[in-house]
Amino acid sequence: MFFSGTESSVKLGKKVIEGVYYFEENPMLDCNQFIITDKNKGELALFDSGNGLSLKGLFEGMNNLGLDYRKITKVFLTHEHVDHVLGLYTLIKTLKNNPPEIYAYGETADILEQGNESKIFPGNLGISPKMFNLEIIPLDIKKMNIDETINIGSEFTFQIYYTPGHSRGSVCYYESNKKILIPGDLVFTGGSFGRYDFPGGSLDMLIESIKFVNNLDVNYLLPGHMGISDNGNPQIDYSYKMVQSIKSFF
Ligand SMILES: [Zn+2]
Repeated sequence: MFFSGTESSVKLGKKVIEGVYYFEENPMLDCNQFIITDKNKGELALFDSGNGLSLKGLFEGMNNLGLDYRKITKVFLTHEHVDHVLGLYTLIKTLKNNPPEIYAYGETADILEQGNESKIFPGNLGISPKMFNLEIIPLDIKKMNIDETINIGSEFTFQIYYTPGHSRGSVCYYESNKKILIPGDLVFTGGSFGRYDFPGGSLDMLIESIKFVNNLDVNYLLPGHMGISDNGNPQIDYSYKMVQSIKSFF
């Protein structure tokens, strides 16, 4: 089988609720992406940038849903890993006349500001920026604070929570009115949870972070990989039980 994570594959998009769109990850080292619309300004916020190769597919997927990629004015990152941030470099080039603001927290912000290639490509994945036709350069980053509030139009107000365990820079975005959680790679559907064996990962921290989000009121669970759910709390609880059962082996 050919890799389908190439430039040509359209990212399948789907409206989750009014103003919230989900774009499914491509199979090769990519991530789910989410668009949230700012109705007041007619602008779009993008959550995670994917791997860059999939960006054209995202734009096509957006176009199919009537969303114009040139309206992306803000990018919010969940964490520093290659499959979530690499698309930034392509996105900035593509939108060079009106580049979006990039929002990140802590280690994620630092790594991107420094252009720290070895931290963007963690461990021994056996990949390099060249394989993506990219050069890692220092970026202008808007640094977020914990418990900061992000407004997207008048409809969405996200809280930022620091949720390490999968990586040092991992955050979750939570919208309490609409009960949306964007957890990055902390917790997935189907009882899955993020890897904790990359540099900066920790099983204990992962458990603590999942425990924390397990106490939030979540309908829409929009994770960085695999499927999404409109029945978030039971999914998070399932993952919490699974991660605790792993812990009991040690
Ligand atoms: Zn990750």
